[in-house]
Amino acid sequence: MTSRNAPASAPPAQAVEIKGLTKFYGSNGRSKPALDGVDLSIPRGAIFGLLGPNGAGKSTLINILAGLVIKSSGSATIWGIDIDEDPRNARAAIGVVPQELNLDSFFAPAELLDVQAGLYGVPKSERRTDELLALVGLTEKANAPARTLSGGMRRRLMMAKAMVHSPPVLVLDEPTAGVDVELRLQLWTTVRELAAAGTTVLLTTHYLEEAEELCRIIAIIDEGRLVACDETEALVRKVDEKKLSLTLTAPVNALPPALQAMGLALETPDRVVFHYKPSRAHVGEVLAAVAAAGLAIRDVSSEETDLEDIFLRLTRSGTSS
Ligand code: ADP
Ligand code: MG
Repeated sequence: MTSRNAPASAPPAQAVEIKGLTKFYGSNGRSKPALDGVDLSIPRGAIFGLLGPNGAGKSTLINILAGLVIKSSGSATIWGIDIDEDPRNARAAIGVVPQELNLDSFFAPAELLDVQAGLYGVPKSERRTDELLALVGLTEKANAPARTLSGGMRRRLMMAKAMVHSPPVLVLDEPTAGVDVELRLQLWTTVRELAAAGTTVLLTTHYLEEAEELCRIIAIIDEGRLVACDETEALVRKVDEKKLSLTLTAPVNALPPALQAMGLALETPDRVVFHYKPSRAHVGEVLAAVAAAGLAIRDVSSEETDLEDIFLRLTRSGTSS
C-alpha cells in the first residue's frame, strides 16, 4: 500500500483476468478447496456480479485479488498487472470494501479519507476527499465523529475510503448483505454512479435480484467452482424455458394421452401446465391440441424464468431436493 502509480499505458480490455485460481486453506492436504480452478474475465467498465451462496468462495476470490489471501495456484491480473509479478501496483489498481466493516471509530469521515490517502501516498494536491464524500452522500457528515454515523453511512464511507487512490477497479464484497431496502437502493445508486464515472465494479452478492438488477455480467460460483458466467440477459435467455398454465372451464381427472405425449401435465384438476422452450415449441399448436381434445380453456398465463430458477438449476440446491 505504498504506491498509487499504476502504469499509464493504454487501459486493458479486461480489468481483471483470473486463470485457474485455486485456494486450499490450511495445511491439511485432504481439505476441499475453497476455490477450484476458477477462470474469469471482467471487461473494463462493467458492473460484474459474482453470485453464490454462503461459503461458495466469493470472499476468498476477492481477498486474493486484494492481496489479503495467498492463492494456492493459478494466476490473476488486475488492470493488466500480474498480482505475483508486481503485487504493489496490482494492489494500487484495486479498491476493496471488505465484507466485514472495520471502521476506525476515532476519525471523522474527512479525516479518515485523508489518512487513507496518505497511506497510499496520494499527494495533498491530488486528494479527492470532498469529491468522494459528495459521491457517497456524506458531505454533511464530513467532520462528524464516526460514532455518530449510521450503518448505511459507514458502508458508504467505506466505499469512499476504497476509492482514495482512484483505483480503476472497485471491489465490493456483499455490499448490501443485511441492509434494509432503502439503503440497498442508495448503495445501488452509488455503484451505478461510480460505474458511470468509469470505474469497473466487481461485487459479490447472494441476492439474485441484486445481481440481475445491477450487473451487466454475472458469474455464479458454488463450492469453489464457476458454474455459469454470461451477460445477465443471455444467462436468463440461456435457460430458455417458460411455463404455460391453462385454466380449464371444467375440472378433469386425467389428460388425454395425446396431450400427455406433447408434454402437458395436469397440475390440479382444472389446471394444465406445459414447460417449453420458446425457441422450439409452438404454443399455438399446443392450444389447438387442447381444444381438439375437447377441453375448454378459461384462462392462459405464461411465466418467464428468472435468475432464481437459473441459480437453483445450476447449483446443488437445485438437485438436492
Ligand atoms: P463466501 O464469501 O462465498 O461466503 P468464503 O470465500 O468466505 O465464501 O469461504 C469459502 C470456503 O472457504 C468456506 O468453506 C469457508 O469456510 C472457507 N474459508 C474461508 N476463509 C477461511 C479461512 N481463513 N480459513 C479456513 N477456511 C476458510
Ligand atoms: Mg463472503
